Amino acid sequence: MTDDQLLRYSRHILLPELGIEGQERLLASRALLMGAGGLGSPAALYLASAGVGRITICDGDAVDLTNLQRQIVHRTESIGQPKVDSARATLRSINPQVEIVTVPERVGESRIAELTAGVDVVLDGTDNFETRHAVNRACVRHRKPLVSGAAIRFDGQIAVFDMRQPDAPCYACLFPEGADQEDVRCAVMGVFAPITGIVGTIQAAEALKLLAGTGEGLTGRLLLIDALTMQLRTIKFRKDPACAVCGPPRQPRA
Ligand SMILES: [Zn+2]
Repeated sequence: MTDDQLLRYSRHILLPELGIEGQERLLASRALLMGAGGLGSPAALYLASAGVGRITICDGDAVDLTNLQRQIVHRTESIGQPKVDSARATLRSINPQVEIVTVPERVGESRIAELTAGVDVVLDGTDNFETRHAVNRACVRHRKPLVSGAAIRFDGQIAVFDMRQPDAPCYACLFPEGADQEDVRCAVMGVFAPITGIVGTIQAAEALKLLAGTGEGLTGRLLLIDALTMQLRTIKFRKDPACAVCGPPRQPRA
């Protein structure tokens, strides 16, 4: 680390759970951020300020006036710009040492798999089950840890699926594909601005711990937050041995 880096990251280096070694791991790591919206905004800000070496941001949308109530990585003057460009500009002004890779696309299955293969952690802040399941399949296939978050109205949830561990449950163990899930979007239901900040910030915390190899993560636990009453609870869940994504491959029918 340079003198400048020792100063920039000094408050991390002071933590015995991180130290120089943990900070060096962050500097050498690569994160993939799916979505630069309400959850991706605070997550991106903390990954960049904390010095994660390379951050790939994937989002096909442009900044809209209705985003600015909660998507804090974007600015009023960025309205109309691709979200990934707007996010990159903010992150660069916070920490020019971090490499930002932008993917201004609505990505499909094969692109998600390709992007996932080249990183150390994936943070999912997208708003539809189709993408969430595609991200999960890619993380299972490439054995990458997935930090998943969701927020709607006053409710938030976060879970970690550490697919590096053979007995860890995947996203589909908790929310099976094809189950009766309906996408509920902020555009229709509304969302309390700080709940997206709380969830995205917890996603950043979990990702940084995974990358630095410290602490205990939310693997096998779903954290539920009700911001209206400010009650938090965690629900434990296990790997589903019959999971269609991470379970044993099905035998072809004779
Ligand atoms: Zn599974």
